[in-house]
Amino acid sequence: MNSPSRIIALSLCAAVATGAFTAVTHAADPAPSPLAAAQKATTPQQALDRLVAGNTRFTTGATTKRDFGAEVRNSAPGQYPIASFVACLDSRTSPDYIFDLGVGQAFVARVAGNFVNEDILGSLEFAHKAAGAKLIVVFGHSACGAVKGACDDVKLGNLTAALAKIRPAVAAVKDDGSPLREDGRFGNQRE
Ligand SMILES: [Zn+2]
Repeated sequence: MNSPSRIIALSLCAAVATGAFTAVTHAADPAPSPLAAAQKATTPQQALDRLVAGNTRFTTGATTKRDFGAEVRNSAPGQYPIASFVACLDSRTSPDYIFDLGVGQAFVARVAGNFVNEDILGSLEFAHKAAGAKLIVVFGHSACGAVKGACDDVKLGNLTAALAKIRPAVAAVKDDGSPLREDGRFGNQRE
């Protein structure tokens, strides 16, 4: 029997799926909305430039003052993000905040250690092939706990399988035998 929490989770999945396919239908409309036209006209370089500008606003304390209620209402008929992110689960690394993005402006796939698997790749194919996004950002960060866990070969429930997907990247890094630094690099290793 389904628990209340499971029913709520299933309802959310259905709502997300409905919204997603509404967006695809809307994107194929012969008379697209201004948001759809703006997305279509944006080049990958322009998408990158907008993200850099948003990050500059974030780092200088000049982020956009937002009416989130209005953004929710405006994006309800369809979504037309210009970019997608593969980001870490880390609570300090939300791309929406760090790039000063509003509701409906980016697809964000988050998993500890920001690696890709079939599910993440499928999500990116939806974001770009079906929903028109123009730029993929793989958004890592310093002192990542998941990467450190993979380096230390941590075993913990289902996290073990997740960290195993990071380990090939760890193995590809030349280890000079010195301790792992706070920035996730070894000894004298540089950028
Ligand atoms: Zn991380």
